[in-house]
Order: sequence, then C-alpha cells, then structure tokens
Amino acid sequence: MTVKAWKLEKSAKCYNCGDATIHDITVDEYTMEIRCRDCGFARYYTFHMVNLPKK
Ligand SMILES: [Zn+2]
Repeated sequence: MTVKAWKLEKSAKCYNCGDATIHDITVDEYTMEIRCRDCGFARYYTFHMVNLPKK
C-alpha cells in the first residue's frame, strides 16, 4: 500500500537564513521534511505512528 505524501506550505522563520520565508513541508508515512524556499535549507523529522489504546 502506498501512502501519498502530504504537500503543505507554511510561512515560518527559517533557522538557516533567519528570514520569514515560505517553507515547503512534505509529510509521508514516516518522515517530515521542511524546506526553506528561499535558501533551500531542509530539516527532517522521523516519527512512527503508534496507535495508543483508548482508556
Ligand atoms: Zn532559509
């Protein structure tokens, strides 16, 4: 099964160039990439989706 990545964009302050720029955010099943559209600096996050039992 292929999960389609989510493509988002968000205005945020860039950690690299320090400007408030548009960031492209790509989210797939396990990773999230946030890339500054201005300078190209990217950060990656990985996570695992866990189903927590309901109380
Ligand atoms: Zn930047």
